Amino acid sequence: MAIAKVEPLTTARALRGPFDYLLPERLAGVGVGSLLLVPFGRRRVAGVVVEVAESSELPPERLVEPIQALEAGAPPELVRLGLWVAREYCSTPARGLELVLPPGSGRAGSGPGPRLVQLAAATEAGRAALEDGTRLGRRQRGALEALVSDGAPGELSARDLEAAGADLGTLRRLEARGLVSMRTKESSRRPAVVEVGAPSRRPRLSAAQQEALGAVVLAMDGSGERELLLHGVTGSGKTEVYLAATEAALERGRGAMILVPEIALTPQAVSRFVARFGDRVALLHSRLTGGERRDEWQRLRSGEARICVGPRSAAFAPVREPGLVVIDEEHDPSYKQEGDPRYDAREVARRRATEAGAVLLAGSATPRPESWLALRRLELPHRADGRALPPVEVVDMRGTQAPLHSRTMESLAEVREARAKAIVLLNRRGWSPFVSCRSCGRAWSCPHCDVSLVAHKRAGELRCHHCGHAEPVPESCPDCGSVTLARHGAGTERVESLLADAVAPLPVFRLDSDSAAGAGSHLEILRRFDAADAGVLVGTQMVAKGHDFPDVVLSVVLDADATLRFPDFRAEERTFALVAQLAGRSGRGPRGGRVLVQTIAPEAPAIAHASSHDAVGFLAGELERRRALRYPPYSHLVRVEVTSPDAARAEAAAGAIHDALAPGLQDGTELLGPAPRFRLRARHRRQLLVKSSDRGAGVTAVREAVEAVSTARLLRGVALGVDVDPQ
Ligand code: ADP
Ligand code: ZN
Ligand code: ZN
Repeated sequence: MAIAKVEPLTTARALRGPFDYLLPERLAGVGVGSLLLVPFGRRRVAGVVVEVAESSELPPERLVEPIQALEAGAPPELVRLGLWVAREYCSTPARGLELVLPPGSGRAGSGPGPRLVQLAAATEAGRAALEDGTRLGRRQRGALEALVSDGAPGELSARDLEAAGADLGTLRRLEARGLVSMRTKESSRRPAVVEVGAPSRRPRLSAAQQEALGAVVLAMDGSGERELLLHGVTGSGKTEVYLAATEAALERGRGAMILVPEIALTPQAVSRFVARFGDRVALLHSRLTGGERRDEWQRLRSGEARICVGPRSAAFAPVREPGLVVIDEEHDPSYKQEGDPRYDAREVARRRATEAGAVLLAGSATPRPESWLALRRLELPHRADGRALPPVEVVDMRGTQAPLHSRTMESLAEVREARAKAIVLLNRRGWSPFVSCRSCGRAWSCPHCDVSLVAHKRAGELRCHHCGHAEPVPESCPDCGSVTLARHGAGTERVESLLADAVAPLPVFRLDSDSAAGAGSHLEILRRFDAADAGVLVGTQMVAKGHDFPDVVLSVVLDADATLRFPDFRAEERTFALVAQLAGRSGRGPRGGRVLVQTIAPEAPAIAHASSHDAVGFLAGELERRRALRYPPYSHLVRVEVTSPDAARAEAAAGAIHDALAPGLQDGTELLGPAPRFRLRARHRRQLLVKSSDRGAGVTAVREAVEAVSTARLLRGVALGVDVDPQ
């Protein structure tokens, strides 16, 4: 008797699978990872086989058979990975498994089917017909000649034969005469790759690159540590090391997974992989059509493509026998998934590498403290072009009201005179972040969230950047009737307008999520800046990512300490990364470059170290601080968030979870909270934080507490979220 243990793909949290089904002869091919349609209560649901067993604990008369097998599911190692994610991030098996199924399958129902093409090949009679004077139409002759010509692949589709004037009708007529044979083949829909920059030539690796590559190859061959950190500034040649390591994996008959932060912001990295490896690369990301995604997935699964390049979801790609797992820009927060399951793709990649015996290679100019401590470091200390990093000047903004300091204005004037290029980074959208009444002091805040509304001038609106609420800019104060409103501070929209005055007639380009709303328009803005001979690019952190502009001579960070004011233990790390990333991208061209950092906290370690390009010094101090406060990597955090439209309910539910959690905690585990967090989307929020030295114990304690209270009446109208390793 064969029993399939099946996890149904339903969202119910309370369900305890897997469930046993009897496998009849007709389903003999079913194994771990197969997708089945099964009877479930009175419904029929899709489910994933997580195990095939010899026997069941249920009596035979209670076992039922699956209704049918659906199209191919996931490979067994990915089923294990999906279940691991579900456990590790306190989610459900269904949610974990959905991450590893072929795109378009599962609960959402089946996606687009494969695209079919008709391929034609000349038969013996067809070859003869060209020679022996058989009467052929002009198109028929053209098609046959193309099919037998030197270097032709033997089989061609009607599309390939367009140049010969043939179409599918021509081929069908030739087939009817026995002059060609036809067959149907599944054809892949390949996503278009945006070509940015020159095609990739293979440079001779520098000594430092050689050494890094050597360590990777040694690890791939089974000696040496398997988890490595490639530390080097932008332009130090990290991507060349990834490319060479990928080649080494392919030579060993193994695949490679390359994770990048956001495809839209890293087209250069992607196109270099495609340029070097061609069809052996599959791309997986959310901009693909359903059909493209399915086909790229299948090309990996079948082994036709051995390399996958993609953002966090690519950690689940069905790459066969990966020998190398790269995490490019490993400090980037986009590796953390914000929806359920709240997985961290860097941890998933690490797990994947361990399970597959692959080398994990994380790379960054500004590595996370976690990676600095845990991974073996490989250093690329210099830029590949041999240029020095640009000098950074910290501009003290204490006592200055204007958004742009006079030092900054001078430097911009120089850029204007030299007809050169500059980048200005300000991590805040809109015209001004705060609006108040000049006479009574009334402040405008969001009706649904406890945050102030941001003025957007061109749109004539006040907007909430958390929930999307928007209202027209008021004409007068509803409290006192005054018509004079004060707009405080500056966002990118206002700075754009200041810059336009400062550098006219040079053009100013703005890049933020307001200016680049549509798909692809990021790239369009960056391309326009790239193509201009002079000008200024202003924007949010998007301007510090991915793209390199060799002819930028000035980079400016405004309000560099803004991110430091977040009540978050990662505030220092984030600030350092933002400033250092922008500084590291500057001065890549023959004209060199300079960096200005405007701040009211010039002595803050994150800013001081970023200004001296000193990642090592920053990380040493930051790790010390984390150790003293017992934050990661010296502890593991699990955050439980309780939200409700009703404040009292949120409070009561948070109390109940606290009481369920507190007694079971082991030594070395701290429970903090419940603490209020600001109201968001009309929901009151309370947060509990578990800090533990043993990650597994912390996760288990939280899971058990959440399950224990999840049926309580107390939780009606309350939503619970668990975030392991919150970012
Ligand atoms: P990173 O990924 O660290 O930003 P890249 O690998 O993109 O660095 O290298 C930066 C630039 O230097 C690229 O244009 C690359 O082609 C070039 N480059 C990298 N390594 C070498 C080398 N060994 N010799 C010559 N040019 C190199
Ligand atoms: Zn007023
Ligand atoms: Zn809001």
